[in-house]
Amino acid sequence: MSFVVPAAPIPSIPVKGAAAGDAFPVHRIYCVGRNYVEHAIEMGHSGREAPFFFMKPADAVLPVAEGEVGRMHYPSLTHSLHHEVELVVAIGKGGRDIAAADALDHVWGYAVGLDMTRRDLQNDMKKQGRPWCIGKGFDESAPIGAVVPKALCGLGAGTKIVLEVNGVVRQASEIDKLIWSVPEIIEHLSAAWTLASGDLIFTGTPEGVAAVVVGDTLHARIDGVGSLEVNVVAR
Ligand code: MN
Repeated sequence: MSFVVPAAPIPSIPVKGAAAGDAFPVHRIYCVGRNYVEHAIEMGHSGREAPFFFMKPADAVLPVAEGEVGRMHYPSLTHSLHHEVELVVAIGKGGRDIAAADALDHVWGYAVGLDMTRRDLQNDMKKQGRPWCIGKGFDESAPIGAVVPKALCGLGAGTKIVLEVNGVVRQASEIDKLIWSVPEIIEHLSAAWTLASGDLIFTGTPEGVAAVVVGDTLHARIDGVGSLEVNVVAR
């Protein structure tokens, strides 16, 4: 078989501590909406609802290797580009109807990610009852740091998740404030879709989401996983 048009390359993310050239291949990007109580409240919700999901295209990743600074181009059509710092789960073993008790066997590693959002467009779509794609699934909307193999991660009670913009803290919380934990997310997600190796799950953002502009530097950090630095540059 041969393709009649050029096949797109497989998007990939660098892996912490891997041999040069080894990378994590991206299959799908799932995102959890409103998964921290204080963020759900700031978005006008009670913070007590079943998890819900949306997706970004796999090639929306903007991979940033350790020690490098990513360059995100300010996207078209928006005047309100928001940051959402999130713990990202990298799936190593696929499956469906995965019980929460077994879910961590399917996790290969974790990363620090930014669910960048064209908030004005997302809000327009919400008002009209239309899909969020244009607000969430645009080019470079998923800056992400190196995937860290789970054995090298130190996630636990009190693990901090922080985002600074130009050195000023905008978002700061703890991973155990997730309304739905990583195993619970995997249970719910795999009831709706068959998970596959290479899937990424953005697990939701804490409170403090706000806009960035060209020239801003975002520094995201999750203790026990790593950090991610991105500059917003003009298109
Ligand atoms: Mn998000």
